[in-house]
Amino acid sequence: MKSTYKNGCPDPCSLEAFLQDQMDSSLLKEKIRLHISQCSHCQTSIHELSQFFHIIEDEFKRPIPNQLFKLFSEIERENVSISGILLHPLKPLNGHISLDFKSRVIDPENFMQPGQPPNSMDHDDILLRVIQSKSSAETVIYAFAHNEKLFRNIRLSLKTNDKKFVSDSLGKIEVNADDLNQLKNAVITVTVKK
Ligand SMILES: [Zn+2]
Repeated sequence: MKSTYKNGCPDPCSLEAFLQDQMDSSLLKEKIRLHISQCSHCQTSIHELSQFFHIIEDEFKRPIPNQLFKLFSEIERENVSISGILLHPLKPLNGHISLDFKSRVIDPENFMQPGQPPNSMDHDDILLRVIQSKSSAETVIYAFAHNEKLFRNIRLSLKTNDKKFVSDSLGKIEVNADDLNQLKNAVITVTVKK
C-alpha cells in the first residue's frame, strides 16, 4: 500500500483505500484514522470521496439513473461540479470490439432534469460523467452505458494524438484538466474487453 505523506496528510490514494477499507496495514490504517480526526483538510477530502462512492453505489442499484442526476445537482452546490460528455458510435456496434465514437459536451442542466433520461442517450451511447472537486480541481470521470461492456474496462484512444485512457471495472477514469479538454468534441476510438 502506498503511504507517501505530503504536508503530513495522507495522499489521495491512501485516503481512498482507507475509506473503502482496503488497507492491508492496520498500523497505517490507525495512523490515518488518527490523522483524519485532527485534520480538517482531510476531513473535507474524506467527505467528498465518500459522496463520490455513494453516487457510484446508488448508480449500480438503479437501471435508470434519474435519481442520480437529482443527487448530482444537490451535491454540485456544495463541493463538486458535474459535467457530461456523451459518446455516440459513428457506425452501429454490431459486435465490434473497437469502434469510433464522436464525443460532445452535454449541458448538465439538460441531463439533470428530474424524471428525464439523459438527453438522447441511445443503447450504444457512453456517458462520461465528469466530477471535479471545487477545492482541489481533481478530476474523475465515471463512464456509464446501458451495456456494461461499454463502460467497464474500456480503452479510449484519441484520434488526433493517440493518447489513451482506460476505465476500471466501475468505469472510473483518471484524467487531468488538459486530458479533459481533449476528450470534448473529439473522435475517440473505444475498445472493449473481449
Ligand atoms: Zn490532513
